[in-house]
Amino acid sequence: MKSSNSPGRTFTIFGATGSIGTQLLEILEQTPSLGRVRVLTANRRAQCLAELANTHRPDIVVLCDPSQRAELEEVLTYKPTVLVGEEALDDPSLYDSDLVINALVGFSGFMPTVRAIRAGKTVALANKESLVVGGAWLSQELQGDFSRILPVDSEHSAMWQALQGESRESIQKIIITASGGPFREWSNAQMESITPKDALKHPNWSMGAKITIDSSTLMNKGLEMIEAHWLFGLPMERIEPVVHPQSIIHSVIEFVDGSSKAQLGPPDMKVPILYALTAPHRVAYPNPTIQWQEASQWTFEPVDHDRFPCIGLAIAAQQTGGMAPAVLNAANEVAVARFLQESLSYKQIAQCVEAALDASVNEFTQTNVNDVVSYQHADHWARRYAKSWKA
Ligand code: NDP
Ligand code: MG
Repeated sequence: MKSSNSPGRTFTIFGATGSIGTQLLEILEQTPSLGRVRVLTANRRAQCLAELANTHRPDIVVLCDPSQRAELEEVLTYKPTVLVGEEALDDPSLYDSDLVINALVGFSGFMPTVRAIRAGKTVALANKESLVVGGAWLSQELQGDFSRILPVDSEHSAMWQALQGESRESIQKIIITASGGPFREWSNAQMESITPKDALKHPNWSMGAKITIDSSTLMNKGLEMIEAHWLFGLPMERIEPVVHPQSIIHSVIEFVDGSSKAQLGPPDMKVPILYALTAPHRVAYPNPTIQWQEASQWTFEPVDHDRFPCIGLAIAAQQTGGMAPAVLNAANEVAVARFLQESLSYKQIAQCVEAALDASVNEFTQTNVNDVVSYQHADHWARRYAKSWKA
């Protein structure tokens, strides 16, 4: 994979107001030599978007929720081009930057990835759901060469870093680490009564709500295995998840000669975000480092598939192929939202996703369809199914 590191580079940032978007903007504020922000987008947090725009002075500011336009314009202290409405994300001018950074959450990030790739751009991708839903389409479009998709996800950045100077043919397997989330030590019985408040407390990372819930169910690790499958071209059987509660080792590549390489560091998304901007070079930045003289232990344990069925559902969906990963993704987004609104229990997240996958077998019988409209259709179908699903 390659990326340039030239001053004056321009950036489009989809999802600027989120956890990844704001950390990226902090990096750019502190390191102006990395480039200039050309476009910022948000969904509905108008005030936050306007404040970020006032600092970074992009030419174009996009707000998907039109009802917040007045608030955006009231807080803006200069006159950028303002685009509003969901369809604004389709505007070709957004894709005219040197690097497109996709930090949207869920399926909302899929079409911006598709558009950026069609426009010939390189995408720094935090939105793993783009690869889960449309990895097969992207692979076809990119002719199997994913070097225009730069991973921002910490595990995939770790793999990418460990693979510098190595050939893909020498990979034996990938070991993808998982923190295990807040319920790693909870019994099956205790897990019956998990509340949204419990699940929103991640032990190591501070992230947006959807990925925090996905991390707690281990759906996130399943999505990341699919992400790794597409990015690094390995079959799912050679991508092995392992629980590493300290989140110091971000992933490991095992090579054919028995040697392994890992990338390490305290859990901090700014490291992989910065690396996606500068790779294969490194730029000085005051991120925290490992304190080697402090006594500590790094431990590993296998995934408990009984208590965490979501990871198995993701693996199975990828192995089924066709529309199944898109169905998994959409049903999971809806189930997580329903859990947060307390209309599903924690354990029903996996049950709802499994029911959607089972029902989709009769709905999408052709497994060789690979076009964007079919993925959109599968997403809409699974959303409707999961919204009305009852245990
Ligand atoms: P957040 O929920 O914090 O932010 C999401 C961003 O997308 C916000 O700017 C939000 O706007 C915008 N957005 C949300 N829904 C829509 C929509 N329907 N249409 C347009 N814009 C929308 O998410 P995170 O930053 O946590 O995650 C972003 C992506 O990065 C996810 O795919 C996640 O899996 C991945 N990731 C995140 C990590 C993290 O540490 N947070 C780590 C690794 C991967 P608004 O603020 O206005 O609602
Ligand atoms: Mg990750």
